[in-house]
Amino acid sequence: MQRFESKTVVVTGGGGGIGGATCRRFAREGARVAVHDMNLEAAEKVAAAIRADGGQAQAFRCDITDRASVDQAVEATLQGLGPIDVLVNNAGWDVFKPFTRTEPSQWDKLLAINLTGALHMHHAVLPGMAARKAGRIVNIASDAARVGSSGEAVYAACKGGLVAFSKTIAREHARHGVTVNVVCPGPTDTALFADYKEGAGNPEKLMEAFTRSIPLGRIGQPDDLPGAILFFASDDASFVTGQVLSVSGG
Ligand code: NAD
Repeated sequence: MQRFESKTVVVTGGGGGIGGATCRRFAREGARVAVHDMNLEAAEKVAAAIRADGGQAQAFRCDITDRASVDQAVEATLQGLGPIDVLVNNAGWDVFKPFTRTEPSQWDKLLAINLTGALHMHHAVLPGMAARKAGRIVNIASDAARVGSSGEAVYAACKGGLVAFSKTIAREHARHGVTVNVVCPGPTDTALFADYKEGAGNPEKLMEAFTRSIPLGRIGQPDDLPGAILFFASDDASFVTGQVLSVSGG
């Protein structure tokens, strides 16, 4: 029996680097995977690769900043794959810019994707989990929330907000059998990180600085993350809630 056999798992931003790796790993461990992304083509690619590998996956267009889109995608997931056992709030976006050079319109976009989007997903999925007295939520924040990160003030604030929100929802929903935990990646080699490096102006120098500052001596790869995410989603973590784990090389 595999760990996630007959479980339905939703991964937002499932068409991206960390999300894609997470979807593939859940599928290898027996889950029915709902690959949610606002980029449907990217989600379809991940779902098709999983099916080609013998796994179960379906792609859904879902823009987490838009409540109607969230409700539609969650309803389609329930119809297609059954009640949602696990939600991984992974979709995110970042931009490198010193705070005093940012515009409030950029804050709004960062907040909408990195914080409000996750709130929409919780609001849409929690009542079903509470009714069934079972559910696992894993939120993807960032080490920027824990230690700060130059050029990412608003992003760090969003992710810090997501950590505080997760701890609170963990308390509110513990009695309903729902756990909520957080995984904080450090710098990880994905499209988001490539954009961040470009924004910083000198990508090579930034990589050197990051690599020097990470005790394990390298930046992360997308496949470094699913181990921690699947742990929080599994029965091994049934007595663990409101916790934050960094996966960042130390
Ligand atoms: P990525 O760019 O590879 O993937 C992000 C995915 O989110 C993309 O597929 C994108 O289409 C999707 N997305 C963006 N906005 C969306 C929206 N409004 N609705 C639905 N989907 C949307 O990036 P990644 O590095 O894999 O990021 C995954 C998560 O990890 C994010 O929450 C990010 O903040 C976090 N994170 C990444 C790093 C890093 O260095 N890569 C570090 C810390 C935290």
